[in-house]
Amino acid sequence: MSYDPQNIFAKILRGEIPCDRVFENEHALAFNDIRPQAPVHVLIIPKGDYESSSDFAAKASPEEIAGFMRAVHAVAEKAGVLDSGYRLIANAGEDGRQEVQHFHIHLIGGRRLGAMLPPSR
Ligand code: 5GP
Repeated sequence: MSYDPQNIFAKILRGEIPCDRVFENEHALAFNDIRPQAPVHVLIIPKGDYESSSDFAAKASPEEIAGFMRAVHAVAEKAGVLDSGYRLIANAGEDGRQEVQHFHIHLIGGRRLGAMLPPSR
């Protein structure tokens, strides 16, 4: 599968559709999820064209990977969840139920979270 430049996060990166921006650096953009699952639910995406975490790990430069991970930390700090805790989720592929085919990490917190995996559906 090749990267689809028409995916919704690519459109957000190009400024074609709006987002509620939380943080940005040279290599990453972070914005609030449109359907939040908790008081804090931020999506962090790399600025490069990467479909999944594996694609990102295989092809991104060390600078992009560092910039992305620093953005994850900056979002946790900005959201005030460094002490209370939070969860990072990266869905991939069909079994992982990845909806948007641009690599992203969900940073979720602001309340006591439930079990890591809900009952199978
Ligand atoms: P995935 O299942 O791919 O890991 O999650 C994709 C996430 O993107 C979902 O949590 C969904 O609510 C969010 N999302 C989908 N479309 C938009 C959008 O247009 N704007 C924002 N901010 N979030 C979106």
